[in-house]
Amino acid sequence: MEVILLGTGSPMPDAKRGGPATLVKAGATQILVDAGRAVVMRLTGAGSLPIFLSGVLITHLHSDHLTDLNDVITTHYVMSQAETPLHIYGPPRTQEVVNGILASLAPDISYRLAHHPDTLWWQPKIIVTEVTPGMTFTIGEAQISVGETNHAPVEPTVSYRIEHEGKSLVLGGDGIPCETLDAICKGADAYVQTVIREDLVSLVKNKRFLDILDYHSTVEQAAQTATRAGVKKLILTHYVPSIQPGQEEEWRALAAAHFAGEILLGDDLTATTI
Ligand SMILES: [Zn+2]
Ligand SMILES: [Zn+2]
Repeated sequence: MEVILLGTGSPMPDAKRGGPATLVKAGATQILVDAGRAVVMRLTGAGSLPIFLSGVLITHLHSDHLTDLNDVITTHYVMSQAETPLHIYGPPRTQEVVNGILASLAPDISYRLAHHPDTLWWQPKIIVTEVTPGMTFTIGEAQISVGETNHAPVEPTVSYRIEHEGKSLVLGGDGIPCETLDAICKGADAYVQTVIREDLVSLVKNKRFLDILDYHSTVEQAAQTATRAGVKKLILTHYVPSIQPGQEEEWRALAAAHFAGEILLGDDLTATTI
């Protein structure tokens, strides 16, 4: 499998980092996990497009993880040459979010249908599957398992384990360490975790910003989860605050103090093969 960090940013706007989104290539199967800011731009940077996706997995319904799901749906729709379903998997209420996106697109869809009556006569065909922990299903060549995470008060939130040809990858989404996260990570070849820097966030004396400390894994906690679960490779993303040029090794050292395996972090489009 190939894992490409499409967007390594967070809700905090950053000129060089898109919002949370990761592309997983499992043989001929391409799976997008979360759809944050600039996801379609970064998909093109990774040599992909929404029409090449076999499925979209959403970890939770925080806006930073799906703000550009609209663009994924629209670009998939306008580039499809036949009525082509887009499969979206996410926690309960994902259908409600997709319905809202489609409602916002109603004028746009009506213009396109009016403009291309002989080549475009279908509405976007979005097939939503709401998932709960313990579910397993298949997307193309990949086997997917759904895990429970703790990002309270955001509920429900899920993680995904993707298996393909004997390799396994876990995408933990947002949240703090918990037993169910350890369980789904157990023995995985790679584990992608969204992280924050507690030491740097703590410097900002803004109550609403400080609140984020109680529901995100720190870099150190992500490394500890990886160690407990016996993961081979730890992949960090969703950096709060953004990693500044030259700070990469400082971030890596914080994780390396708690995890002896390979640690990957970097800019948007950082990729690895597992
Ligand atoms: Zn979140
Ligand atoms: Zn987030």
